[in-house]
Amino acid sequence: MGCAFTNHAVRLAAASSSGPLKLVVLERCEVACAASGRAGGFLARNWCSGPAAVLAETSFDMHAAFAADIAASRPPAEADALGYRSLPTFFAASAASPVAARHRGPDADHDAVAWLDRDAVASIECRDDGATTAQITPRPYTRALLDDAIRRANAAPAVDVELIEGAAVTGLLYSAHGLVAGVTWHPASDPSHACELAADDVVLAMGPWTGRADDWLPEDARGLLDIDGQPAFSLVLDPQTHVAAAAVFLDANTVDCEIYPRPDGSVYVCSGNVPTYDLPDSPRQQLEDVVRASSSALAAAPRSSSHACFLPIRTSNDAVPLIGRVIDNQPLYVAAGHSCWGILNSQATGLALAELVLTGKARTLDLRPFAPSR
Ligand SMILES: Cc1cc2nc3c(=O)[nH]c(=O)nc-3n(C[C@H](O)[C@H](O)[C@H](O)COP(=O)(O)OP(=O)(O)OC[C@H]3O[C@@H](n4cnc5c(N)ncnc54)[C@H](O)[C@@H]3O)c2cc1C
Repeated sequence: MGCAFTNHAVRLAAASSSGPLKLVVLERCEVACAASGRAGGFLARNWCSGPAAVLAETSFDMHAAFAADIAASRPPAEADALGYRSLPTFFAASAASPVAARHRGPDADHDAVAWLDRDAVASIECRDDGATTAQITPRPYTRALLDDAIRRANAAPAVDVELIEGAAVTGLLYSAHGLVAGVTWHPASDPSHACELAADDVVLAMGPWTGRADDWLPEDARGLLDIDGQPAFSLVLDPQTHVAAAAVFLDANTVDCEIYPRPDGSVYVCSGNVPTYDLPDSPRQQLEDVVRASSSALAAAPRSSSHACFLPIRTSNDAVPLIGRVIDNQPLYVAAGHSCWGILNSQATGLALAELVLTGKARTLDLRPFAPSR
């Protein structure tokens, strides 16, 4: 979210004749070190509901435009690394799943999922032919957002972006009048070295850790940043054979898997649910076993990496992300709580928040349904 906001803030500032803008990005570790570098990168135009529906529709189209922009302005290797492409999407159930017994879809012979073994995967149903589902590779995407912002800022006389990695934000600075006036932080490598950064506006985009900033709010505003983390596991396989482009949501009885072959030939796999089944000894191994058992093409594929990270979730029952001003009349903003759709919804979130911070009004989206104080 921080990179998407920075990208759109720079684009807006560079295109307008308003005063100088300096953006400082403070990142505790490194850009894309958390969910934004480890996610699946699946994009669906119509799968979000409620207020997030318009966020998803707008973002889906903006992803295509961003990828086209990078393809037109950067070396082919950079555009290729983004891994943006549309792809068909299938729902499947392993032979062991009760879902499989309900139907065997007419799509079982679809070429795009020829890499799923028919004796292991009992039902397959095409949910989208690729018109409204797509993918992007999250780590290069997140980094491209920031790199693009820095390049644009370098070309714009009144805009500047500074990235400080290894900078852990620890609190908010307040003016004598009680207004947010910056942040306190310390180098991640040296917690005893307290630093301050004065700022006219502060945007909190700390993913699952945004909930920690709730303690930094004035007492009567506490509880607004109800964000926490939900653990999720993923791994990347490097098959020797070509695996056709198809997003597969596999109900395997013991675990739900999401399988995304990527344009670079690798295959990304993550668990798509909070386990309600028996606690596995190893969630990563369970995921890996299920995927290998469902596809001969993946059975012996070397695993190049595996990750555990956190989905940023709202702790209230409200699954709507927080986007906007945290407290009326305070120059403090938030973009967090996007759960399993943060890569998709980063685009419209970043643009709408940049509009709000820079011009006082979000034009792309009505942000009222996402306001922390709604
Ligand atoms: C396994 C998995 C699969 C997913 N698949 C998809 C998918 O297919 N499609 C999709 O749209 N979404 C997907 N998501 C969701 C998506 O990844 C997240 O919603 C999104 O990346 C969240 O972005 P964020 O910027 O809010 O948080 P993060 O990516 O977690 O970034 C927060 C950043 O804040 C930094 N930070 C935290 N505290 C501080 C501090 N005090 N000071 C300085 N920096 C700090 C962290 O180091 C981190 O870099 C998936 C998520 C997971 C976990």
